[in-house]
Amino acid sequence: MDVNKRSLSPTVMEKISSLAKRRGFIYPDSEIYGGYQGFWDYGPLGVELKNNIKRQWWKSMVYNREDIVGMDTSIIMNPVVWEKSGHLKAFTDPMVECRECHKRFKEEDKKSHEHDDWTEPKIFNLLTEVLLGTTEPKEKAYLRGEITQGVFTNFENVVASSRVKIPFGIAQIGKAFRNEITPGNFTFRSREFEQMELEYFVKPDEAESKKIFENWKEQRINWYESLGMTAKKLRFQDHKDKEKAHYAKYATDIQYEAPFGWSEFEGIHHRGDFDLKNHGLSYLDQETQEKYIPWVIETSGGVDRATLFFLIDAYYEDGERVILKLHPKLAPIKVAVFPLLSNKPDLVKKAKWLFGKLKIAIPPVAWDDRGNIGKRYFSQDEIGTPWCVTVDFQTLEDETVTIRDRDTAKQERVGIDKLNEWFSAKLNDPTSE
Ligand code: ATP
Repeated sequence: MDVNKRSLSPTVMEKISSLAKRRGFIYPDSEIYGGYQGFWDYGPLGVELKNNIKRQWWKSMVYNREDIVGMDTSIIMNPVVWEKSGHLKAFTDPMVECRECHKRFKEEDKKSHEHDDWTEPKIFNLLTEVLLGTTEPKEKAYLRGEITQGVFTNFENVVASSRVKIPFGIAQIGKAFRNEITPGNFTFRSREFEQMELEYFVKPDEAESKKIFENWKEQRINWYESLGMTAKKLRFQDHKDKEKAHYAKYATDIQYEAPFGWSEFEGIHHRGDFDLKNHGLSYLDQETQEKYIPWVIETSGGVDRATLFFLIDAYYEDGERVILKLHPKLAPIKVAVFPLLSNKPDLVKKAKWLFGKLKIAIPPVAWDDRGNIGKRYFSQDEIGTPWCVTVDFQTLEDETVTIRDRDTAKQERVGIDKLNEWFSAKLNDPTSE
């Protein structure tokens, strides 16, 4: 192969980040001022995709279960929390500096650098500091480095105010912040990101907690597969002793085979009693009157990394045509409605009427009457819209429309009065909750 030619063609990551920007999934933050390293903004389609991922997660973790409740805790907490949780001391990465160009890297990320003359690794704390208050010196606080601590500090509140009994879980989705040394790989390593986490509280028992840990591993990897992620691109990677976070008894990552290599996007951690013990919290079994410190099994997923990997996994090229084969439950737009011809008022009127109806039944729905039908399909395929509905001359006679499927490009004629049922059956498939 002609090497020059190869190096000129865009990489998969370049294609995806360019599609993400062009079609309104993800933009660089503060772009008009040159951007800001490690920060990203989600556009009109990106916010839908991300919300769909969060909604599906919440459904599977909270609504479909009887033993899990939800919470939404504060981003800034009393700084004592971070002292007790061990983050002020141990939430660190080893940082090295290139002696030639003085760029700083996380030690494990320095491999691909052009020079090879490094300082000794220094310990760098990832917590992001903020200053609060009205008098000087202002009080130093922190943006949370993980969303978990708000769940732990409220453990006794939840037990007292709801009807949970061990084993039970608390689920939360929210923003976390890390002053990452080397943000990069598009949104993969950002300084502001969102996590979706479950803290599952169990009795302190080695064998039983190991079983629950294994069970959560399976459930979490299955969830990604049920939403369309390619099974052979997913794997578990156990943490070796030196990779384990300061709180972990043992831990596994779920990794995806990204264009930049196998990469973690969810951690399953056995946190033992580390956190509740450090915060001085415990549990009283109302039936047996036994008091103990529960152990915690945590599933900690990154919303932004999941969004990125769902996008990468869904990306297909078929000649000139780009198709995002997103699972219909994740697709930002569920259906697009077209009049066959935009210069026939009867077709446009009927299509507008149908658009209005579907918009209420299965939002969001797109409208397109530009160019020819082929171009409209092309445009919807590129953003992952699973179905396109066309109102044509036959519609005016028999109240049927064509539904064209994104992945097979096949068309089916369906009665307008059957459309809600047709789409609900596809969208409410229980194998992907
Ligand atoms: P890494 O080793 O990649 O820095 P981590 O092991 O520190 O990740 P955890 O502390 O286990 O990550 O956080 C749980 C999840 O939060 C990760 O699996 C990831 O999806 C997400 N996450 C962590 N750091 C970032 C980041 N800087 N940008 C985006 N997502 C992140």
